[in-house]
Amino acid sequence: MGDKMITNGKFGKYGGIFVPELLIPALEELEIAFLKYKDDKKFNAELECYLREFAGRPTALYYARNLSQKLGCKIYLKREDMLHTGAHKINNTLGQGLLAKYMGKTRLIAETGAGQHGIATAVVGALLEIPTEVYMGSEDVERQKLNVFRMELSDAKVLPVYNGSCTLKDAINQAFRDWIANVETTHYLIGSTMGPHPYPSMVKHFQSIIGKETKKQIYEKEGKLPDTIIACVGGGSNSIGIFSQFLKDENVELIGVEGGGDGVNSGRTGATLSAGTEGVLHGSLSFVLQNDDGQIREAHSVSAGLDYPGVGPEHSYLKVTGRANYVAITNEEALRGFKLLSQYEGIIPALESAHAVAYAEKYAKNEENKGKTIVVNLSGRGDKDMFIVAEKMGC
Ligand SMILES: *Cc1c(COP(=O)(O)O)cnc(C)c1O
Repeated sequence: MGDKMITNGKFGKYGGIFVPELLIPALEELEIAFLKYKDDKKFNAELECYLREFAGRPTALYYARNLSQKLGCKIYLKREDMLHTGAHKINNTLGQGLLAKYMGKTRLIAETGAGQHGIATAVVGALLEIPTEVYMGSEDVERQKLNVFRMELSDAKVLPVYNGSCTLKDAINQAFRDWIANVETTHYLIGSTMGPHPYPSMVKHFQSIIGKETKKQIYEKEGKLPDTIIACVGGGSNSIGIFSQFLKDENVELIGVEGGGDGVNSGRTGATLSAGTEGVLHGSLSFVLQNDDGQIREAHSVSAGLDYPGVGPEHSYLKVTGRANYVAITNEEALRGFKLLSQYEGIIPALESAHAVAYAEKYAKNEENKGKTIVVNLSGRGDKDMFIVAEKMGC
């Protein structure tokens, strides 16, 4: 067996395992398998092959010349938007999908909000020939018909959830219920660095490829570390993936950008770290959007991927220790970032990633930051957001 996990499921006091007792054996089985295979030669050779030839890694670290000139900084984009299925999510679904296969599981389940993680899971189910079922709130099924069709094309079954607000958090609850009933055969493939241990550490591991490539590439191009790394934060997986390799480089400023929605204090926000308080959601202790009596509040963001009332526990830890800073960008500012990158660089970002771009602009405009070298993690491409953006722009 591999090394004992360094964090033991805790990031400071955050994280942990807050689940019904029936799930503990499944989480233990998963942790043991993960620790066994994460350093296994055969497993990693197979995963690397899929990452390269199926998903399209390595992704470029692209110097955004026009934007850099406009803003007076050196801006690099980590091009996760170029990956198969359009975002970084495939790094994690390939990793966990392959792990499930090595564990002998014969069924994958997943949750999805707008459908991005559902699609990334469905294609991996097809690739690895593991039957896949995706829980999706009935509201989301209605709003995202095209993505439902995409999942079904790859032979995944989409299961609408009619509980609660009929959105992502309800789909996650339903997936946990399914898993409890079917732990023998089934792997629950969680889509971000959230949930009970070992998920936050495991998803971070599979997404850390973003940071590993970035570190190598920035040395090749600049001969030094970047001054600043900026990434959007929903559940927190693309950001922790890139941050992970720079946590010990104290001089590298790490900035996570949450979906501010209509504004952090508007009551319509997805900015969990800015507007939330400590609480337990979906199996771990972290920051949560909740009422005084602990009821989970609806999150709101123009981008589906940032529209989650929780956040991965390691981000709570990085926030309270001050190692990373977390800021919020409103819907309106994100749309500005979306247009900015499209116009200046010919790259149409996902609305989630547009939050990071919008903050990079704000940051670069600050006199203190002139001339800095900034890496923006471009977590995904904007094709999926065309209809929303067209509507907001009045087209
Ligand atoms: C899902 C998604 C996100 C948010 O998820 P994280 O786990 O916070 O990375 C960000 N960007 C894109 C393009 C997404 O699809």
